[in-house]
Amino acid sequence: MLEKETQWNKCLVYFKERIPEQAFQTWFDGIAVSTLTTEEIVLQVPNQFHYEWLESKYRHLIDAAIKEIFEKPLIVNYSVVVSHKNPNEIPPLVQKENVIPPGYQEKTQLNSRYLFDNFIEGKGNQLAKAASYSVAERPGQTPFNPLLIYSITGLGKTHLLQAIGNFCIRRFPSMRIQYLTSEKFMLDFIRAIQENKSTDFANAYRGVDMLLLDDVQFFQKKEQTQEQFFHLFNELYQQGKQIVLTTDRPPNELTGLKDRLISRFQSGLMVDIQPPDLETRIAILMKKAHDDHLELPFEIIEYIASHIKRNVRELEGTMVRLLARSSLYRKDITMDLAREVLEEILGREAFIGVTIDHVIKCISKEWKVSERQLVGKGRKMEIAMARQIAMYLSRELTGASLFNIGLHLGGRDHSTVIHACKTVENKMLKDNELKKRIDRLKKELQPLGGISTY
Ligand code: ADP
Ligand code: MG
Repeated sequence: MLEKETQWNKCLVYFKERIPEQAFQTWFDGIAVSTLTTEEIVLQVPNQFHYEWLESKYRHLIDAAIKEIFEKPLIVNYSVVVSHKNPNEIPPLVQKENVIPPGYQEKTQLNSRYLFDNFIEGKGNQLAKAASYSVAERPGQTPFNPLLIYSITGLGKTHLLQAIGNFCIRRFPSMRIQYLTSEKFMLDFIRAIQENKSTDFANAYRGVDMLLLDDVQFFQKKEQTQEQFFHLFNELYQQGKQIVLTTDRPPNELTGLKDRLISRFQSGLMVDIQPPDLETRIAILMKKAHDDHLELPFEIIEYIASHIKRNVRELEGTMVRLLARSSLYRKDITMDLAREVLEEILGREAFIGVTIDHVIKCISKEWKVSERQLVGKGRKMEIAMARQIAMYLSRELTGASLFNIGLHLGGRDHSTVIHACKTVENKMLKDNELKKRIDRLKKELQPLGGISTY
């Protein structure tokens, strides 16, 4: 082995011991030394971005390694060598100050606001973030293809999806990345059919290197669109292109989606995002305040974070509303003002937020009867009882009319609903276990937990 390689290998060991494995593989593993003199070392890197990244993040580490291994400092230079695996592909021209290709936002539909850097990590989203990051570092080359991220709304799915794209476009400027919502996919598809251009449509998407498709639950019951997507999926997958999807529930709960599509979704990695814990919520608010150059007393941040529990979007919204209120009325941001704003938000959400559908889902899980049975007319005892509880909870939590509740739950009239509610109330008086169970469901269903007595 040449001396320069032996020496460089020692440097590699030095790096490996000091940085995470992921980072090592990404940034150091493939580097070769093209020149080594007593004064200078020239490192061969695959692209401009790689060089910039090494310079900005790892320069001190590289210098330290060189000093130790070569026993004196060397001048470090770089040569950018594009891989010649595909000689037809013209290497992208990358300017130093502008790593991102011009016009990329329009083409890719990426929003540069969403980055890994400003995504706060906590227990509930750790895995989703780590998986997203792996995929972004080695698109199409991890077992995580497709990667599917699911959670209830407002917990950062879109943020992560976009962060993957934003990361990749900087790292691999020639990569064709496409972010889009499932709704847009469908609308484009419909337009293509109308204009007799469905082949163009298919070809346009077949050409991408990375497909980031948001809110796939939208495909439910849209059979033609599913079909189209199924073929696209297979084609991209076979070419080793990375696919990342999000949904608002686990794939096996996506009713109205073809089984073969669901099984494709399940073939890679599925990760969920859980609502953030208190510390994470505080961290998110602090980061947001910091990024917006706001000084919010910690007491107020903590107050908001401890009341808004299940939705990061709502968390941010509360802060925005608080600021708006303060500047509009020229009031200082005090605890009183925070309380006022919070009560408005929680009061409203706690009542409009829950729908009869939410109740049906929740009861179906808890009492292990299917949703079909709940909305059907069957009179078997367990089903009838579960249905009555669903009626009771719908009346308590949704603000829907008795007529609507009856219509949804077995097509009954309003007097049946009244009777059901009375029956449940009576049972709860006598049966403490049942009461506890129903109270727990009430809490689960109210997305923001209601107003606490502060
Ligand atoms: P979803 O797609 O799951 O409905 P979004 O990705 O739109 O949710 O997130 C809602 C808002 O909350 C966005 O403004 C996003 O930037 C922010 N957000 C969500 N999770 C985090 C997090 N962990 N750190 C920072 N911001 C977050
Ligand atoms: Mg979203």
